[in-house]
Amino acid sequence: LTKSQELLNRRKEAVANGVGVFNTATVSEAKGAIIIDADGRELIDFAGGIGVVNAGHCPEPVVAAIREQAGKYLHTSFNVVTYEPYIQLCEELAEILPHGEKTKAMLVSTGAEAVENAIKIARQATKKPAILCFTGAYHGRTMMAMTLTSKVSYKYDCGPFAPEVYRLPFPNFYRYHGARDMDTFVDDELKRLHESALNLVDIKSVAAVIIEPIQGEGGFNPVPQKYLEGLRAFCDTHGIILIMDEVQSGFCRTGHWASWQHYGVQPDISTYAKSMGSGLPIAAVVGRAEIMDAAAIGSIGGTYIGSPICCVAASATIKYMKEINLNEKAVQIGKVMMDRLQHLMGQHSEIGDVRGVGAMIAIEFVRNGDATQPNSEICPQIVKGCAENGLVILSAGTHKNILRILSPLVITDKQLEKGLSILESQIKKAIH
Ligand code: PMP
Repeated sequence: LTKSQELLNRRKEAVANGVGVFNTATVSEAKGAIIIDADGRELIDFAGGIGVVNAGHCPEPVVAAIREQAGKYLHTSFNVVTYEPYIQLCEELAEILPHGEKTKAMLVSTGAEAVENAIKIARQATKKPAILCFTGAYHGRTMMAMTLTSKVSYKYDCGPFAPEVYRLPFPNFYRYHGARDMDTFVDDELKRLHESALNLVDIKSVAAVIIEPIQGEGGFNPVPQKYLEGLRAFCDTHGIILIMDEVQSGFCRTGHWASWQHYGVQPDISTYAKSMGSGLPIAAVVGRAEIMDAAAIGSIGGTYIGSPICCVAASATIKYMKEINLNEKAVQIGKVMMDRLQHLMGQHSEIGDVRGVGAMIAIEFVRNGDATQPNSEICPQIVKGCAENGLVILSAGTHKNILRILSPLVITDKQLEKGLSILESQIKKAIH
């Protein structure tokens, strides 16, 4: 047995089966875009720990900041004793992610927790109960976040779910546009949105709409520009808070701090986690000050909110991302990936779509070039073949028919080239 196989066997014996695993890879060390597995084999990382290491594995300034903080204090709870790293991170978030005139933030540990708190704040600010969310959405695994999540297989036998959650059809242009052009498609979808005020829920009872501007787990589906603008106007008309979940799309993935900056459509509240902390559990709810301050004192918090170690890791990550101009790098990497993958799409009708913003790029597999016929068989073979040939990659989508690339953005040209070559050869192998 290899050390990796041994580890996977021990995992099976000791860890609850429900803790799923996407990939057979293991790790002993990781740096930049490279994972060294338990047997000393080098793997190129196109998964980034599910979009967490945009700034690379173990960036030196981040590791140094963690070490320094560990020598000072590990924990007091920000609910008990005030420390500067928490405040500093909130100041930095307000600077890079401005929401209206004045921006405030709160810190928690995970994306799901950020979503939970965004909903609690929106309800308190509006004194209304209902929340609108979308098909294809993923917002996490806690009770409210799971309720907001669309994919049924994440929720088997986990109910009853949180009440007052209503789901709208996500405007997935690729899957559903049929013969319609973008303009007609969006007009139709906006009509459906406006009709929801008549046939889904009393619109006067809606506190918030939550949306991922580019769906992550759902398969990197971008909201059409005009739809997001229409949704903003709809929220303004009805006094609804617009929450954008940027947990997967944030922190340089799309060439911006948040993908809403790509659209130029501002949310009232937005949520962040993953690449914000380069691997340490830190998440944020950021929003317009008057909304953030509407939550009653003591109604949002927790023992570990914004752990000092995680705060300094996030501040060091933001500083490093600025220094190496990671947003620009995302755009460059994205171009290389798009060129290569679109060329491949031209050769194979099984590849229905290659899409993305910045370096948030996905490949969708279908049957007969038909967008409405997802092909679920190909991705598992590619993911497995890649793992065996030195590339870690993830699938996504309701039908698991989409490959998504979430590589560290510090990946070198050579590593990117090699990773794409492994991917290309495994795609060709799985198709034929
Ligand atoms: N929102 C989005 C958009 C996500 O992609 C995820 C994680 N995949 C979450 C929320 C939940 O984050 P976490 O796993 O840190 O709870």
